[in-house]
Amino acid sequence: MTRLMHRSLLTKPPVAVVARGVEIFDADGRAYIDASGGAAVSCLGHGHPAVLEALHKQLDRIAYAHTGFFTTEAAERLGERLIHDAPDGLEHVYLVSGGSEAVEAALKMARQYFVEIGQPQRRHVVARRQSYHGNTLGALAAGGNEWRREQFRPLLIETHHIDPCYAYRFQQEGESDEGYAARAAGALEEKLLELGPETVMAFVAETVVGATAGAVPPVADYFRRIREICDRYGVLLILDEVMCGMGRTGTLHACEQENISPDLMTIAKGLGGGFQPIGAVLVSGVIYDAIRQGTGFFQHGHTYMGHPMAAAAGLAVQEAIHQEGLLENVRNMGALLEQRLRARFGNHHHVGDIRGRGLFYGIELVAERATKKPFVREKKVNSVIKREAMARGLMVYPMGGTIDGANGDHVLLAPPFIVSEGDIEQIVVRLGDAL
Ligand code: PMP
Repeated sequence: MTRLMHRSLLTKPPVAVVARGVEIFDADGRAYIDASGGAAVSCLGHGHPAVLEALHKQLDRIAYAHTGFFTTEAAERLGERLIHDAPDGLEHVYLVSGGSEAVEAALKMARQYFVEIGQPQRRHVVARRQSYHGNTLGALAAGGNEWRREQFRPLLIETHHIDPCYAYRFQQEGESDEGYAARAAGALEEKLLELGPETVMAFVAETVVGATAGAVPPVADYFRRIREICDRYGVLLILDEVMCGMGRTGTLHACEQENISPDLMTIAKGLGGGFQPIGAVLVSGVIYDAIRQGTGFFQHGHTYMGHPMAAAAGLAVQEAIHQEGLLENVRNMGALLEQRLRARFGNHHHVGDIRGRGLFYGIELVAERATKKPFVREKKVNSVIKREAMARGLMVYPMGGTIDGANGDHVLLAPPFIVSEGDIEQIVVRLGDAL
């Protein structure tokens, strides 16, 4: 027994003692390839020298200053950097300590914006079924996974869910991509009309769906249509790029590949690369100006927001990605990963689908390939594969309930941006053994 509460109260995980590059070593000296980047976090791998140096320097200078009293050079510089590279129209940064905090802040900012501009009746949120936006109560309310939400009802925010854009599951036979994009995005318009569009404040979605579905990219044109519908009805578009953002899909922001900009965007995980807990909301100039000219104060705040150590880590991670040309490596190694996965598992009896972008891939595990029939839930196949992979020195991110909250199994691959061809080979070989 241990005094520390682990995720499972029944088992204790191995003790990680040191990590370098793409590997984590446990107390027994066993090495694990971090093929999931934790949960798509460790984009630079472990122990990156430039980040360690930046953190040591920051620790020497100042480790903490409350944002009610001070700003810091580290936080200001990170803000400049993030806006320099931000999608069009996003002009300000609100720093927090993680993904759920970022989602909470974005939802509250959307709400305050509408109060400030005299539309307080806009309080509904529309999101997508089977989505995940975090585990705090507000973010949980936005998420669309009934199994996670059920026992915590009544939830804090009135959220209404539409089907996600999963071409592999919902595109009908003979339906063109354009037709499917129009139908999937059209579900948002139908929902707005049903609720009364003037009562809705925001639509929230992941640009590329991460853990809950296993790296599912949108069909072309879906988000252009979503943007158009949001604009038509004055609804804010919040893109949650906590998992798929910050280079993971081969461009700094996943929405660049959809040629759209949101009004608010949440980022976290790869922002600090695991060196420090950090998240952020990127905020449009319009929202910022309205709140500035209104009360001049966003009614929110956390003790550790804008933490100088976290900001220094975020800045060093982003500079290293830029200086080492790592987005190019994401695209090149991502293409190799896809090719190797398809070659090895394309005809595997228990692989229903392989999809993703950049270094962000999902593998759907099914009982029967031809019909894509899922395994029975009790088998917990995703957990079994995780365990078998760990036994072979490989970390893959397991998810269950990925079809309807109850059934469906996936594993997610999200290796560090520094992976080599040899690492990719090892990942595919060990995953093959585990399967
Ligand atoms: N949004 C998305 C899309 C996520 O994947 C996650 C974490 N898996 C979160 C929000 C919540 O982030 P955190 O765990 O840092 O609170």
